[in-house]
Amino acid sequence: MTQDRTSVPLALFGGPPTIERPLPPPATMGEDDVAAASEVIRSGVLSGYIGAPGDAFMGGPRVRAFEAQAAEYFGVRHAIAVNSWTSGLVAAVGAIGIEPGDEIITTPWTMAATATAIVHWCGIPVFADIDRETFNIDPASVERLIGRRTRAVIAVDIFGQSADMTALRDICRRHGLKLLGDCAQAPGAKVFDRMAGTLADIGGYSLNYHKHIHCGEGGVLVTDDDRHARRLALIRNHAEAVVHSERPADLANMLGFNFRMGEIEAAIASVQLGKLAPRVAARQRAAAQLDAGLSDLPGLKTPRVAVGNTHAYYIYGLQLDVAALGVPRERVVRALQAEGVSGIVGSYQNLHLLPMFRHKVAYGTGGFPWASPYCERTIHYGPGLCPVAEELHARTFLGLALGQFAHGPEAIGQVVAAFRKVWGQLDRLRAEARHRGEPCPA
Ligand SMILES: *Cc1c(COP(=O)(O)O)cnc(C)c1O
Repeated sequence: MTQDRTSVPLALFGGPPTIERPLPPPATMGEDDVAAASEVIRSGVLSGYIGAPGDAFMGGPRVRAFEAQAAEYFGVRHAIAVNSWTSGLVAAVGAIGIEPGDEIITTPWTMAATATAIVHWCGIPVFADIDRETFNIDPASVERLIGRRTRAVIAVDIFGQSADMTALRDICRRHGLKLLGDCAQAPGAKVFDRMAGTLADIGGYSLNYHKHIHCGEGGVLVTDDDRHARRLALIRNHAEAVVHSERPADLANMLGFNFRMGEIEAAIASVQLGKLAPRVAARQRAAAQLDAGLSDLPGLKTPRVAVGNTHAYYIYGLQLDVAALGVPRERVVRALQAEGVSGIVGSYQNLHLLPMFRHKVAYGTGGFPWASPYCERTIHYGPGLCPVAEELHARTFLGLALGQFAHGPEAIGQVVAAFRKVWGQLDRLRAEARHRGEPCPA
């Protein structure tokens, strides 16, 4: 166990920082990725897609190979590659056939694309509160919000562990709702013996540069449902030019997108998928080391992994008991940053407080789709809607972006040492906060 360095002044007050040199961004590309990309470039065929009926409608050889590999890896019937997970979310909401004005319940603790994917189809996002322990959507809150127009729930596996899919599946089954899974932050995490993301009707993962594995920009959808898979593939590639059915149900939401992944990205994504398991394992080792090094610090709560889950630790989510500490979070964050701790996520966003929702400005300035005949009830967004999410955001959440710490036990040991040094001198922080007239947490 690292010694509390109480004799050394905090870096915030001019002492030497615990971590002298900032960690470089982790190296994510290897020679195998380079070789795969180079082969595509040499072939001269950088995309195999054509947006018209025929063999090329489903993409080139590397896109298809990546999809087959992903379907096998995640244990699903269908994997559908797209050019970003934002595109994947838009395709998923369209594929389940929502109508303008339909409501979809989701969480405020996610990246904006989860909710804007709903608005792209003129659907109405309804925000449920989150669970205080896992930061995932709270099933009890979901059930309270179900109304006549509710069509689906989008669960988000925030920070890397699955939402409570057992409870959410049960709710969705009882109310006839579709369940979508935004698992951008949890590829490779497990729910009992299944991969996170595969318990939803449609789930999927991001392959952007910041995620566990990446190809620059990209995403992949997973589903066991043949009809959903077909509709996803259509929406991905200019369905309007391909669907010749005259049945409105087949034509619905077949509207003009190009969400196609290129061959270079697909070739890299294939190589990267082979690296997912070791990367997740490395993050889990880092998290175990942080757990061991931090769990005895007073006023600091280490992440809880729900029963049946494994955690992929996109973010290591801590909570501060600011009343017990007597120091506001921002001061703790500044002290840690001064010690050289990087990748601190000082609070997480609350989508229901974003200006576009608070002011209901999406299409033009007239409030569409909320202020339209399609929307049958007044939906309120603003403070007070999600009290747990708001309190965690405002005062107590403190996340560590583990991507920064994929540097092995020594780097993690330094992070632990920095925390222990700060915790060893909390009285200095308290005095300083008082001196500066910073509000003392009640
Ligand atoms: C990264 C992320 C997205 C968006 O993925 P992109 O591939 O960047 O479009 C959506 N939702 C969550 C929770 C994410 O973390």
